[in-house]
Amino acid sequence: MSAKSPNPFSRIPAVDKVIVALEKKGGLPPLPQPLITDLVRHTLEEIRERVKAGDPNVDEFEGTVRLIRERIGVLYRSRIHPVINGTGVCIHTNLGRAPLRKEAVQAIADVGRFYNNLELDLESGERGSRGGFLETCLAKLCDAESATVTNNCAAALIIILKHLAKGDRNEVVISRGELVEIGGGFRVPEIMEASGAKLVEVGATNKTTLDDYRNAITPRTGMLLKVHRSNFYMEGFTGEPSTEELVALGREYGLPVVEDLGSGAMVMTEQVSAIPHEPTASEVLGRGVDLVCVSGDKLLGGPQAGIIAGKAGLVAGIKKEPFFRALRCDKLILTAMQETVLEYLRTGENEKPDLPLIGMLSATVEDDLRPRAEAILKRLSGAGGLECSVVDSIARCGGGTMPKAEIPSLALEFLPSGLSVTKMAQRLRGMPLPVMGYIAEDSFRIDLRTVFPEQDVSLVENLLAIL
Ligand SMILES: *Cc1c(COP(=O)(O)O)cnc(C)c1O
Repeated sequence: MSAKSPNPFSRIPAVDKVIVALEKKGGLPPLPQPLITDLVRHTLEEIRERVKAGDPNVDEFEGTVRLIRERIGVLYRSRIHPVINGTGVCIHTNLGRAPLRKEAVQAIADVGRFYNNLELDLESGERGSRGGFLETCLAKLCDAESATVTNNCAAALIIILKHLAKGDRNEVVISRGELVEIGGGFRVPEIMEASGAKLVEVGATNKTTLDDYRNAITPRTGMLLKVHRSNFYMEGFTGEPSTEELVALGREYGLPVVEDLGSGAMVMTEQVSAIPHEPTASEVLGRGVDLVCVSGDKLLGGPQAGIIAGKAGLVAGIKKEPFFRALRCDKLILTAMQETVLEYLRTGENEKPDLPLIGMLSATVEDDLRPRAEAILKRLSGAGGLECSVVDSIARCGGGTMPKAEIPSLALEFLPSGLSVTKMAQRLRGMPLPVMGYIAEDSFRIDLRTVFPEQDVSLVENLLAIL
């Protein structure tokens, strides 16, 4: 069948003929048949449309099969699976944010595989409180009267607003300097609107005074909100009232004061790594704030979740909101969070919690990273074709936290011959265990701070395989 065939549609093969050809050659990724069949059908349909439109460049049979095989590969690689993070960004939202500690993953496996006491009181045999133990642990960790969890910090903020800013007291006073976009479509003003709260912006972008807040308070005000500027800095002519001043103002008018902390560090970050101090939940509650909300999978190093901590009466009220039911966490998340929080509570005064993220942030260049870099270099040097060296680099916290923090790190630097750096990056992403690096100064780099030491062997294998 050539392009000159009288009937151009005769060039389009039948679905089953393509499937037979795909299977005969073998090497297909293990995707279920219905997905493969659909992909074949859609591709052939697409070709039919092209023929209909008079496109003369439609592939012959072999070309069509090759195209479909490629697409099956692309589809297979898009499923969620592990990736080696060589970007140097510790909390990488595209790469799943914080990795979990092994014990948390094991606990998920046990709880998920069998039945468990999620909502059972083992003493009475009756229905028990969901996540009650975790709530007790979280309250302890945050030095709070009470705490609870939601799906994420965005959900936590929404439910807080729904509870404290409703009906004829739905106004929320917030500084114009804090109407931030966190990323991934999280814009504070939009979230507030989605909850039904009415935003009352005060001050200017760079400066808000206590009187700005005071002058905005009316009988319709439900709460005062402070949002931590996690992902940007303000410098120069700036100013805002302290949390203590805002708390005093709230007390004066009988209004709750809430702070969205975002990242939610639970340790003194400046003692863990070369990064600034990030406010902890305990510290902010200590300043008198009524409620805080923090993210579970940023600096805390746990699963995706939102933590609400603070006054017992408010937390209890939030849990009674009908909407709370729609935001509750799954048993696997509650289990992972429980094991993460237990590790914090076990950690002594001068120790670091044994969490992958904390380990990554605290690794030292000379003692931890350089020996690994040299071992990798040695293994690669025999291979040829891949010019590699070790260079100083800068790792980052990521996850929209501490944008200015630069953590000294080490990277493998590649100047591939006969291969562009973008092509090299693409090939590494296409491996069964994909590697994400970054391109800088015309070289391809892999920052070792975010690569787990136990992944070094796979990393070398991947690098050798793409040559
Ligand atoms: C990241 C962040 C959020 C959103 O947290 P999620 O857990 O991703 O929903 C909210 N507020 C602040 C200040 C943040 O930094």
